Amino acid sequence: MAMTWSDLAKKQPAAMRILMNGIRNNRLAHAYLFSGGRGVGKREAASHLARAFFCRARDGIEPCGACPDCKRIDSGNHPDVVVIQPDGRSIKKPQIASLIKAFSYKGVETSKKLFIIEQADLLTSQAANSLLKFIEEPQGNTLCILITEHSQKILATILSRCQVLHFKPLSKELLVHHLLENGVSRVMAKTVSAVTSDAEEATTLSKDEWFANSRSIVLHFMEDLLTRPNHAIITMYEKCALHFNDSDKMKMMLRLMLIWFRDVMALHIGQNDNVVYVDRMESLTEAAEKMTAEQAACALSLLMEAQRRLQSNGNPLSVLEYVSLKLQEGAGVYA
Ligand SMILES: [Zn+2]
Repeated sequence: MAMTWSDLAKKQPAAMRILMNGIRNNRLAHAYLFSGGRGVGKREAASHLARAFFCRARDGIEPCGACPDCKRIDSGNHPDVVVIQPDGRSIKKPQIASLIKAFSYKGVETSKKLFIIEQADLLTSQAANSLLKFIEEPQGNTLCILITEHSQKILATILSRCQVLHFKPLSKELLVHHLLENGVSRVMAKTVSAVTSDAEEATTLSKDEWFANSRSIVLHFMEDLLTRPNHAIITMYEKCALHFNDSDKMKMMLRLMLIWFRDVMALHIGQNDNVVYVDRMESLTEAAEKMTAEQAACALSLLMEAQRRLQSNGNPLSVLEYVSLKLQEGAGVYA
C-alpha cells in the first residue's frame, strides 16, 4: 500500500502538520532540517515530500504514487532529485560544489529541483559555507531537505536558514506496532521496545541472534533463582558469565533482568497489559506470589546499583557475582 501523509502523521503529527499545510497552501519553505533519532520516519517523510513536490497528478496534498515522477522518486533515479551522503566521515566541499553545478543547469524535466542531504551534521565547515550561499539564493523552485540525528552539531548559520522540524521518538505502543508490522513476533517486539526507544536499533535487535539468546539465558536464570536457587549459581557461571562477557553485554543482562522485576511489579499492581515477558506469564505469576511489591522494588534498586557499579569499575563478572549473591541470598527477595 502506498504511503500517505496520514500514515506519516501517526508517527510524527506535529512535524507532518507543518509539511501538509505547506503543500496545501503552496507555501513550502526553501530549506527544511529534519532532526530526530534513528528510525523515527525522517527519510520516509523526505521521500514523501519529494513525491508531493514533483507529482503531476496530486490528489489534494497526496501524491498519486503512480506517475513517472512518483515512480522515479521511489526507485531513486529522478533526474531532479539529488541525495548527498557522507563521503567517508564527512560531506566535503567538492560534493556540495558538484551539487550546485548540477543544479545550475535547468531542471531536466521541470523547473523544480530537490536535494536531500543525509547526516547533515557531517558537513565540513567549508562545505556548509558553500551550501549556505546556495540556500540563501535559491534558484527557481528549489527545495532542500537536510537530515540529522545531531542538530546541535549543525552550524548556526545553516540552522537559521532552515525550518527545523523535530521528529520525536516513537511511543512504546507505536514502536511495538511498527515492529509487528515488520514481521517481528509479539514476544520479541515487546522485549526490544522495553530495551530501546530507537526504532532502527529495535529492528536490528529483534533480528539479532545474540540478543535472542540473551533473552532466553536471562529468563532461564531468573526462573532458576525463583524455583531452584541453589542451581542458579551454576547457571550464572556456565551460561551468564560466558554469554555476557564484557561490560556492554553485562549492561544488557542487567536491563533484561530489570524487565523481569518490572513485570513482577506490574502484576502486583494489576497492570497485566504492561508485562513484557508475556511468554513467561506462569513464572512471573509465581514470582509475584513469592515476593511482595516491596521486595520487587528492592530487586530493582539492587539492579540499578549494579548498573552504576558496572559503569564505575567495569568488571562484568564481579558485578554479576554481586547481583547473583544478593538475589540468591534473598536480599529479602524470594522470602
Ligand atoms: Zn505522482
